[in-house]
Amino acid sequence: MPEIMPFGKYSGSSVEQIVLRDYKYFTWAIDVVAKRSLKERFEFVEHVVSNFVSVKNCCRRECDKPANFISIYYGSMYNPGDTRVSSFDFIYCSDDCFKNDGKVSFEKANLEPLAFRTALSQTKIETNELIKIIAECMGIERNKRNSKERLEEIFNNCQLKVPYF
Ligand SMILES: [Zn+2]
Repeated sequence: MPEIMPFGKYSGSSVEQIVLRDYKYFTWAIDVVAKRSLKERFEFVEHVVSNFVSVKNCCRRECDKPANFISIYYGSMYNPGDTRVSSFDFIYCSDDCFKNDGKVSFEKANLEPLAFRTALSQTKIETNELIKIIAECMGIERNKRNSKERLEEIFNNCQLKVPYF
């Protein structure tokens, strides 16, 4: 049975729905929820979004290893230094694959862990766009509506780099 948030702006949503919809709120809520089973689910879900094995491989054509990092491009013509964006064309298994990828402009990109925490940005739009990319690397498809039960199942069955105890 999915753990349901009993209060606040996501009252009635499951923990998995909250982590996907509003990760910044999730990182606040994880510290304030009191009910034991709910708190445990928050902690498990945080572990999964930080330690999942990517279902998508490194973007380099000659490489077929799962991605571990995402290159975040920052700055744009319109908002220099104030935009964080990426795409599936910029996920890498290793620092070496990143450094040897000719298409990256290194002075404007940072290689960061392929984990939800990396998505946190100044605006919710930037955060959510990055969350969608990273969630898809977890095996959660972008425009598909998953039930609470289905999401719970996906999180429970996610392959992890570090086991959860
Ligand atoms: Zn690679």
